[in-house]
Amino acid sequence: MTDYSQELSLALSAVRNAAEICQIVQRRIGSSAMAKSDKSPVTMADFASQAVILEAIGRAFPIDCLVAEETSTELQQEPELLSEVTALVQKYHPQATSQQICEWIDRGHGAGGSRRYWTLDPIDGTKGFLRKEQYAIALALYDEGELVLGVLGCPNLPADPVRNLINPATTPIDQAQGGLFYAVRGAGAFVTSLDGHHLPRPIHVSTSHNLHEYRVCESAEATHSRHDASATIAQSLGVAGEPVRMDSQAKYACVASGRAEIYLRLPTRAGYQECIWDHAAGVMVIEAAGGKVTDTTGKELDFSQGRHLSANIGVVATNGIHHEKIVAAVVAQQQSLAAQQ
Ligand code: AMP
Ligand code: MG
Repeated sequence: MTDYSQELSLALSAVRNAAEICQIVQRRIGSSAMAKSDKSPVTMADFASQAVILEAIGRAFPIDCLVAEETSTELQQEPELLSEVTALVQKYHPQATSQQICEWIDRGHGAGGSRRYWTLDPIDGTKGFLRKEQYAIALALYDEGELVLGVLGCPNLPADPVRNLINPATTPIDQAQGGLFYAVRGAGAFVTSLDGHHLPRPIHVSTSHNLHEYRVCESAEATHSRHDASATIAQSLGVAGEPVRMDSQAKYACVASGRAEIYLRLPTRAGYQECIWDHAAGVMVIEAAGGKVTDTTGKELDFSQGRHLSANIGVVATNGIHHEKIVAAVVAQQQSLAAQQ
């Protein structure tokens, strides 16, 4: 088995640095200098996060292909934003120039689909970031036909599930320590604190067989996943509780660490293709924690197609115990929806 320990330690430290930048920026939201409705904080943190992570990977693994969400085109047209981003990145690279930072960001142009590539969402769940709820820094490595490494930095999702039973809306932000969830294929999944003050501990999906008690999580955004369809599916499976809605791949972290049993992502329109960076890290962590992920038709997610999951429709992630039954309920619901149209 290939040893990915060098890649893992690099990925953990890069995601930690990016998370620190995001937290600095998030603390400023709501201050007089930054209106809460202003989108600039998230844009600023997004670019800075991508710059520090791609700089680190580019330095250590210069020939690896990088596939990331942002490009510097917009940034280069906004000098004020660029100087804010530069100041943030200079925390880690005091000598970095704005031009260098744009070059680091643009390393993420890769097309994907290559034998080995990294994929990054520098801030997944931008709406959650602005609401001071859940968001994630998501980094994954694909090598020789499969995902091999995933790191999910979740600054507002505590590492310790006992202190936060899933609903981010009820967790005061100042109690959140931030969890760093990670996995390497064949070596299990772990969580540690983002600040590095806690030893990593293994995580595992919930071992519950009782569908009645299952917790379903889904996107907070009704435009990203059909809430009415998931409610019908949950009812047909006999799930009793209300769905837990949150932004970002923190949903994958919740299922991987036993805080929820099901994550449904049901297409809101025909033809939408999921981006690989919205799923790769989460899928790796769930699978290593003993769970299962397919699309809404039961097909495995295919990360070899380029920047999008173009061979798949939606996502169904579970603790693995009733996966086939849950997919069957999804298929039945999707068919009845199609028949109505
Ligand atoms: P979430 O936080 O789970 O709602 O997911 C956020 C991600 O949803 C963003 O990073 C977008 O790439 C992605 N997204 C945007 N539009 C859609 C859509 N119509 N359906 C599904 N995902 C979407
Ligand atoms: Mg995203």
